[in-house]
Amino acid sequence: MRKIFTLLLLAGTFGLALVSCQSEEKKRKTVFVIIDGITVDNIERMKPSAIFDIASVGHYSRGYCGGKVGQYSETPTISAVGYNNILTGTWVNKHNVKNNENQSPNYNYWSIFRIAKEQKTNFTTALYSSWTDNRTMLLGEGKPETGNLKIDYVYDGYDLDKENFPKREYDLHIYDIDSVVCERAAECIRTEAPDLNWVYMWYPDDAYHIFGDGSFSDEYVYKEDALIAKVWEAVKYREKEHNEEWLVIVLTDHGRDELGYGHGGQSDRARAIWMSTNLKEVNGQFAEPYLSHADVNPTICKFMGFEVPRDLAFESDGSSFYGPRDIYDLQSHNYDNKVMLSWKVDQGKGNARVFMARDNKFAQGKKDDWQEVATVPVSDGGCTVDLGTVDSKIYKFAVQTDNTILNLWNPRDPNRPYSPNQ
Ligand SMILES: [Zn+2]
Repeated sequence: MRKIFTLLLLAGTFGLALVSCQSEEKKRKTVFVIIDGITVDNIERMKPSAIFDIASVGHYSRGYCGGKVGQYSETPTISAVGYNNILTGTWVNKHNVKNNENQSPNYNYWSIFRIAKEQKTNFTTALYSSWTDNRTMLLGEGKPETGNLKIDYVYDGYDLDKENFPKREYDLHIYDIDSVVCERAAECIRTEAPDLNWVYMWYPDDAYHIFGDGSFSDEYVYKEDALIAKVWEAVKYREKEHNEEWLVIVLTDHGRDELGYGHGGQSDRARAIWMSTNLKEVNGQFAEPYLSHADVNPTICKFMGFEVPRDLAFESDGSSFYGPRDIYDLQSHNYDNKVMLSWKVDQGKGNARVFMARDNKFAQGKKDDWQEVATVPVSDGGCTVDLGTVDSKIYKFAVQTDNTILNLWNPRDPNRPYSPNQ
């Protein structure tokens, strides 16, 4: 009894202190920077100072783009395709942006901007971009299909402004635009500090397309890195002067062919990307061969505390590299009329719930009928699912644990019989 009384007294005395502690919880904010078309070997040889200063606070890793080679998720190593991998956390078989032109994104796979705006509390968003299509096409601002997505701070349109940014030799007007974009980003982050920020920088890709690997391209990688430094300085200023904690991610959208001019295919060099983050603690996802474009969206969601509707989370092809990760590397193999699922285990706690859908209505904006087909201890590392007698063109699987959701499409050929007896 005396103990309880003492505790109450203590609580009374320190109540105020507790309240003020809680109100001092840092406000979380995110900026991700996509810098176009710099290969892993080039960035690691040059080690530009801002990109590697960010990594020295946190981490740097190689990763991949392009989905899984030869499988349903194989994805062209093309710019807009890559941005949309990053924005939606899915590959081209879902988000449907196949090229830089004539895009028809499937907006049912929400971008990170849409996810931010679907939250119960208001999160402000900002876009600083050298390519206006990023807003009008990929994010789909103002379109009914994106829920009339609104972006709070927009700095783009410079690529369409031929008067102020006339074409220069070697497309250097694009470098001018990148400079303005980064200055605006740094200024807006310093003064307004929107909650979610995307900076897009275009020029390195142009330099490589014109000159390939070599001193000219190197020079502009360093110059672009100096622009990123302005954004990074703005973030450090916010963290010093305000009660904020920032997630910074800098990454590239694809690698290049062997000479450095082109890209788009599935060579090792074209598929390899790199990522730099100021996150002090990352989980095993932030490492080869697992890290990919698709991990950025779920990482931002986890860091920002965004709630993601279950059916959308079941479609995400990435996994957060922030916070605990229970399982990874989900695989499936067919055996007669069964599917053998397997996963690798980070933490052996709790159960894995296995869900199956025999349709892909989600792609049309409808609801899939997800059936829970198994519950097994995470530490089992897999399970076998009977596909039953209902014929289907697609089998989607999602495996849900306390901290992780993985999914895959089973590649069963619907034209092949299940068994000799069928
Ligand atoms: Zn690109």
